[in-house]
Amino acid sequence: MSAIPAPATLHVVATPIGNLGDLSPRALETLRTVAAICAEDTRHTRQLLAHFGIDKPLVALHEHNEDALAQRLVARLLAGESLALVSDAGTPLVSDPGFRLVGAARAAGIKVSPVPGACAFIAALSVAGLPSDRFVFEGFLPAKAAARRERLQQLAGEVRTLAFYESSHRIQDTLADLAQVFGPTRRAVIARELTKLFETVLDGTLAELHAAVAADANQRKGEFVVLVQGAGDDADARIAAGRRLYARLAEHLPPSTAARLAADMSGAPRKALYGSDIEPG
Ligand code: SAM
Repeated sequence: MSAIPAPATLHVVATPIGNLGDLSPRALETLRTVAAICAEDTRHTRQLLAHFGIDKPLVALHEHNEDALAQRLVARLLAGESLALVSDAGTPLVSDPGFRLVGAARAAGIKVSPVPGACAFIAALSVAGLPSDRFVFEGFLPAKAAARRERLQQLAGEVRTLAFYESSHRIQDTLADLAQVFGPTRRAVIARELTKLFETVLDGTLAELHAAVAADANQRKGEFVVLVQGAGDDADARIAAGRRLYARLAEHLPPSTAARLAADMSGAPRKALYGSDIEPG
């Protein structure tokens, strides 16, 4: 008679976003006890583990092989092997691989348990001083300028605080686009290199932040979270959002239809959107 394997767990383990002191005791204990660790970049994770004297088999799990690998990992879990999932930094699945594996494990009835810890945008939000009762996480904006501006247009009327991830290559262009699409006076915070030696948290209007980053090459180095205060729920903000919507819609629709839709979507009165080129309809 074959022995029934003990139920296994997939542990989703957060790792530091820069400061190794942020790896929790429970994360360490979990990483020490699992059969293997699924990691986005095995070389990166091996270094982290070596720092803590942990030697475990690693399985490379990234966006290119996650679909193919998920069922094989589920089979290991069903056979009784507990596994951990980590990413290069912070919380797995937050702008990182893992949701297909977690979904497949849950579908197979396997216990999936979090070991929470660092997450860059939550850390940024906790020190930003922007409204934090309601917020939206937008992750990375599209890399191409036209697609990025289009996404920002869609977000211009959002009233909740917005959180973005950004890289050193694009921080300046993204701040320029934010100032242009959301308006130069909207308040924002740039959280750079959190928990690391050159941690910097700058706050100001989008125009001020864009100027500060443009003026200092050091402010363009490292990793960034950009938080932007939501659109004010006042008439001016609604009209500004309505006019931006109108400008986009009028590229594809007759002016009167564009104005009616823009007014519906923004909550601004249609009359406030009438420009010299709009026929009231
Ligand atoms: N899973 C991670 C988390 O929980 O935050 C995010 C991974 S995502 C691939 C990496 C991005 O997170 C970076 O490009 C940057 O925007 C942000 N980030 C990561 N570490 C950061 C830090 N120490 N300071 C500021 N932003 C950071």
